[in-house]
Amino acid sequence: MPTRSISAALRTQGQPKRVSILGATGSVGSNTVDLLARMPGRFAVEALTANGNAALLARQAVALKARFAAVADPTNYLVLKEALTGTGIEAAAGPDAIIEAARRPADFVMAAIVGAAGLEPTLAAAEAGRTIGLANKECLVCAGDLMTERVKQRGATLLPVDSEHNAIFQVFDFDRPETVERIILTASGGPFRNATQAELERATPAQAVAHPNWDMGAKISVDSATMMNKGLELIEAHHLFHMPEDRIEILIHPQSVVHSLVAYVDGSVLAQLGSPDMRTPIAHALAWPERIEAPTPRLDLAALKQLTFETPDLERFPALQMARDALKTGATAPTLLNAANEVAVAAFLGGRIGFLGIAKLVHGVLDRLAVGPATSLGALREADAMARRKAEELIASGGY
Ligand code: MG
Repeated sequence: MPTRSISAALRTQGQPKRVSILGATGSVGSNTVDLLARMPGRFAVEALTANGNAALLARQAVALKARFAAVADPTNYLVLKEALTGTGIEAAAGPDAIIEAARRPADFVMAAIVGAAGLEPTLAAAEAGRTIGLANKECLVCAGDLMTERVKQRGATLLPVDSEHNAIFQVFDFDRPETVERIILTASGGPFRNATQAELERATPAQAVAHPNWDMGAKISVDSATMMNKGLELIEAHHLFHMPEDRIEILIHPQSVVHSLVAYVDGSVLAQLGSPDMRTPIAHALAWPERIEAPTPRLDLAALKQLTFETPDLERFPALQMARDALKTGATAPTLLNAANEVAVAAFLGGRIGFLGIAKLVHGVLDRLAVGPATSLGALREADAMARRKAEELIASGGY
């Protein structure tokens, strides 16, 4: 839960802020590395992790003088170890090494592992009471209640890095939450905003990952094309800002300049604006409660001339309604939704199902599985595995 109690996040005078990055070689991770490399006196790096890209991870670790570098996939250990020989940087591999990286002493942990794989390392950072830059939305989608409870118990802090949630964080009155009437998440609408049903039917992975405004990883780009990304963000926003589903609005804003808005009871609406560049929300979270310089293109509203807004089309983008329904159902419904979606996106990227098959498959999984209590990590893991198995089964049989 974000909090404005700033003491925990304040740097000790003259001491660099110690940072770890979980998922350093991905899109948010690399952007974080880029910012840290520009400010060597201000930040010191404790640990960096990657899934399998050991060569890039080793280069980042050397450039940032990290103490510890770990790859999740143990088959990449030797590459990492060899690349770090003689540097004094400790190399490790396997899931336990990623958890160790999350727990090592740090003033700030960037949680940027893609997908449900980020859940346990992020929980470990929360258990260690860290200030966490949360770029992995699946943590809150799959295990929102568990995560927010753990954060509260251990005195950890969640700082949203997702651009929409970071925008809301910047304009949300945490001292007077009762004065917030609703929050408004903006969505670019993705590459298929104006596509016809027939065009959606034929959409290829290459078209789906070519996002008009944001340069992102493949998974989130496909989620943006189906608008499942906004559905997941709706669930994420519910947990971060304690807003019920019916007080979170989604608004299409193709220019991606107004990153999100907060509407207050007196009719005021506050927004955060900026160029669509992840280095702004990353810099905000890294430095919070201070601010640091980020090399993002400056916003030129006069050059843009106009900003436009429209209501999302729930018929062409059924993922939005599925996410709303999963949030209303609660319990393990969002976990099932997320797991089915991860399998569906991978199947689409692998050419096994068509673009419209993604939402159909997710719907098929949710339709066939019972929702259970989401009270333990074990129950969530089980729900996640069950949804993945069912999704694979439906892809194989074609009956979704
Ligand atoms: Mg976002």
